[in-house]
Amino acid sequence: MRFGFPIRFWGVLLGCLALMALRLGMSAQHSTTTAVHFEEMVFVPAAVAAVWEPPFVGPPIPPPADPTRTITAELRSGDSLDRSLKQCRVPSSQLERLYEALDTVFDLRQIKPGDYYEVAIDTSDAIRHFRYTPHRTPDRPIEVKLHDGQFVARQLQLPLERRVERLEVRIEDNLSNAISAAGESIALSEVLADDIFGAVIDFQRDPRRGDRLGVVFEKLYIDEHFVRYGDVLLARYEGEQGTELAVRYAAIEGEDAYYNASGRSLGRMFVLKPLGVNSITSHFSRQRFHPILKKQRPHLGTDYGAPTGTLVWTTARGQVAFAGWKGDYGKLVEIVHANGYRTRYAHLSKILVREGQLVEQKEIIGKVGATGLATASHLHYEIIKNGHHINPELINEGHAVPTLADDLLPDFVHQRDALLHVLALGPRPWRYASSLTSAPL
Ligand SMILES: [Zn+2]
Repeated sequence: MRFGFPIRFWGVLLGCLALMALRLGMSAQHSTTTAVHFEEMVFVPAAVAAVWEPPFVGPPIPPPADPTRTITAELRSGDSLDRSLKQCRVPSSQLERLYEALDTVFDLRQIKPGDYYEVAIDTSDAIRHFRYTPHRTPDRPIEVKLHDGQFVARQLQLPLERRVERLEVRIEDNLSNAISAAGESIALSEVLADDIFGAVIDFQRDPRRGDRLGVVFEKLYIDEHFVRYGDVLLARYEGEQGTELAVRYAAIEGEDAYYNASGRSLGRMFVLKPLGVNSITSHFSRQRFHPILKKQRPHLGTDYGAPTGTLVWTTARGQVAFAGWKGDYGKLVEIVHANGYRTRYAHLSKILVREGQLVEQKEIIGKVGATGLATASHLHYEIIKNGHHINPELINEGHAVPTLADDLLPDFVHQRDALLHVLALGPRPWRYASSLTSAPL
C-alpha cells in the first residue's frame, strides 16, 4: 500500500507520454511541422545551415492596410494655416479643436511661408496626428496627438548635429560682404561685429582692403539641413589697424566669454554701439552747423540713422535715471553707470524702461524714432563722464579689463592653440568655408 500513490502516478505519466508520441507520429505523417525543423536547425553545423531552406509555409500574409492617409504641405506666401489645411481637404470638423490645442504651445500668428506640416487622417476622417514644423526652427516642431479623445499639443526639441567649420576671408570692402562671399550669412557677421569684436574693432571705420579674418565656428544641422549657427569658438582679425584674436573660453562653467591671445577679456564696460546698425549720420563734434537751428552748435553725441522701431539697447549696465520727454531730445532715456558715466538715448519713438530700473549691458530700452528736434528717424546717443561729454566712438579705448586667473591660463592656452590649429588646417586660397571632414570649396 505504501507504493500505491507512486505506482498510479507513474502509470498516468506513461499513459500521457504514449498519447503524445502517438500524436507526434500522426502529425509527422501528414505534414512537416516547424517544431521538428526548428530542432534540426539548431543542431546542424553552420556549413550545412547555410544551404538549409525553410519549408514552404504558404503564401506571405500581406500587412494590414494603413488605416490613415497622410497629407504634407508647405505654407506659401499669404497662406494661413486654416486656408492651407482646407485647400488640402483636411476635414474641417475638427480644425477648431486642433487650433485650440496648438494655441497652448504655439502662437499661430507666428506662422511663416516655408513652414510645413504633416497631418494623418484615419478612415473615419478624424485627425489622428498633426505635426507643424517652422521653417526657421525645424528642430522645434509642434506635435499634436489624440490622447483620450482630446488633442494634446507639445513642442519637441529634436537633437541637432553640431559641426565645427572654419572660414577664412579677405576683406575687399566690408565684413558682411566678405562673409557672404564665403557663403555664410549676415547672422555670422553680426555676431562677429557686435558680440565678439564690438568693443575692440569698429567695423565701419577700421577695416582696410586686404585685411584678413579667420573664424572657427559651429554650425547646427538637422538631417543635413543647416539650421543656425552655434558658437563662434575662435576669431582672428589681421588688419592694417592691428590684429585681434578672440577665443571663446569658460572661466566658470557655463559662463563663456571671449578672451584675447593672452587671456585678457574682450568684453569691456561699454559696447561700441547702442543698436544694430552701422550708419553714423552725424559724428560727435564740439562745433557743428545745426541743420534745423541754422547756426553753429556743438553736437555732443553720435547719430545713428535707423528706421523707426529699430531696437535700442544700453551700452553698459546701470540704472535708468530718466525715462520720458525732455525738450529737444524728445523721448529720452538716461542711464547712470559705474565710474561716473552716464549715457543718453534720444528721439525715441517708444520707451521700454522706467526710472529706477536696473539694466544689463545690451538690454533693450526703447525704439528709434524722430521725437523732439529731429529731421529724420535716428538715434542720438551721448556719453557723459563726470559731467563732460565724450566722443562715444572713442569710449572703448584704454579701458582696463579683467584677465583670466593664473591657474586657468595653461588650460586656456591649450584650447587657444588647438583652435588655432583647426584654423590653420588645409590649403589656403583665402576664400573658403568648409567642414572639417570635406575638401575646401
Ligand atoms: Zn544727434
